[in-house]
Amino acid sequence: MTTAHPVTASSADVLREAGRRRTFAVISHPDAGKSTLTEALALHAQVISEAGAVHGKAGRRGVVSDWMEMEKARGISITSAALQFSYGDAVVNLLDTPGHSDFSEDTYRVLAAVDSAVMLLDAAKGLEPQTLKLFDVCRHRGIPVITFINKWDRPGRDALALCDELVERIGLQPMPLTWPVGDAGHFRGVLDRRDGQFIRYARTAGGATAAGQERLSAAQAEAEEGADWVRAVEEVDLLSASGGDFDLARFLDATATPVLFGSAVLNFGVKHLLDLLVELAPQPTPRPDAQAKLRDLNAPFSAFVFKVQTGMDPSHRDQVAFARVCSGVFERGMVVTNATTGKPFATKYVQQVFGQQRSTLDTAYPGDVIGLVNATALRVGDTLYTDKPAVRFPGLPSFAPAHFAVARPADLSRSKQFRKGIEQLESEGVVQILRSLRRGEAAPVFAAVGPMQFEVAAHRLVAEFKSPVRLEPLPYTVVRRLTDPAHRSLVDGNRSEVLTRTDGVDLALFTDSTTLGVLRRLHPEVVAALEPLVAGNT
Ligand code: GDP
Repeated sequence: MTTAHPVTASSADVLREAGRRRTFAVISHPDAGKSTLTEALALHAQVISEAGAVHGKAGRRGVVSDWMEMEKARGISITSAALQFSYGDAVVNLLDTPGHSDFSEDTYRVLAAVDSAVMLLDAAKGLEPQTLKLFDVCRHRGIPVITFINKWDRPGRDALALCDELVERIGLQPMPLTWPVGDAGHFRGVLDRRDGQFIRYARTAGGATAAGQERLSAAQAEAEEGADWVRAVEEVDLLSASGGDFDLARFLDATATPVLFGSAVLNFGVKHLLDLLVELAPQPTPRPDAQAKLRDLNAPFSAFVFKVQTGMDPSHRDQVAFARVCSGVFERGMVVTNATTGKPFATKYVQQVFGQQRSTLDTAYPGDVIGLVNATALRVGDTLYTDKPAVRFPGLPSFAPAHFAVARPADLSRSKQFRKGIEQLESEGVVQILRSLRRGEAAPVFAAVGPMQFEVAAHRLVAEFKSPVRLEPLPYTVVRRLTDPAHRSLVDGNRSEVLTRTDGVDLALFTDSTTLGVLRRLHPEVVAALEPLVAGNT
């Protein structure tokens, strides 16, 4: 393909730029403090001078209104998917993992675009359901995880108990790099395990600027903090005895996690987290294509689309496709090829998604996220590339669904459009489609990670296919993968059934774990054929 602008970056430039990138996402349960931490990270990187201006809930309104002005002015839709900032010599890309009510397959797919993750835990709650689901995806993809235990300024659980939970529930070895001095709620600071010193926290007014802190030697710490310090030292000895010393190889192979304790709202521990990301987290690496061949970072430009945002307003059908650059350099104005369709796509309108100056983006390197505006032809999973060799990265993975609903056309005269519509939605990964002989062709089942996916699907069926859908929720809460179709008839019952996903995977669905337990007792032969579905299962 020809390019509108000459590509100026040399291969060495690309490798150097890629080496500076750290692309990660925060995985957490709602309310653990993701927005607060994002804002604090940006603050430390001095993108903004005052907490609240970028990602905070109070500040968001201000940002959103600016962005709406830009939308009006340019007639384009602007959304946030990634925050980019420089930190020292590094360029940090923080990708947003939507949570709360918009938790969906999109949230998981973001993890296909990162090189590492920060698992953010609330000190009072430990591992929570959405964190566990997102962690499953990280594990499946081998993504290295740094753990940040947040809200240490408030009463919470015991630090050792939180570490034990990581081992016991998810088999992840914690390797604390800092250790709290003083119980949660009486936070004095942390013991830095690298040099044995005490980093004492000094409260600054409102916590709105970088937290004040001072370093004390172990001897000074013991003299000033007494029993709290002694206990921290004892606990750290226990950690060393139980395999909790830092091991870079185990972090990178995702079997162990460095752990930091802090308080995002007080900006404590946040700088440490940034330093750790820059120091330890992996830079972009060559990505395997669909044939498992690695695409070198300095090969010509390639990227894959991990998120597509469609305006929900029917009169405003703008679409932004977010792509992660995998190789080469992206320059605005390039004409790229969509590997799925073989068609060219002109990248005149590209936004650098969030942060820095909210301006159009001119150049991007491996690890960066580009937002392609008016990209109605692009779908999640599409690969983009410029010059040969052509490349295609693996398509969409499917994730363990948790919500199910029978879908019927509300207007029977539009049945054909209805069928076409659900085929389209499925190919874009908006919802998964399950079927069975028992239910028949006319009543497919929608399956989704989050209920918002149903809303999007229903909306698009009306808006684009003029075929309203009637959705009837199914009461299933437990899902297994049925590996031996011979057992199908044993599972099909009043409170359970087997449905087949379009990729051929048989899903056994149960209303509750009791129903599954009864089946196992009555038919022990079925046990081996029912596999738990991890979130990242394809
Ligand atoms: P999100 O839902 O994960 O994005 O969480 P938010 O960042 O919106 O935080 C949820 C609530 O927890 C807010 O009221 C925050 O002020 C509060 N919060 C976040 N971090 C901390 C912290 O370190 N300490 C305390 N005490 N509160 C925090």
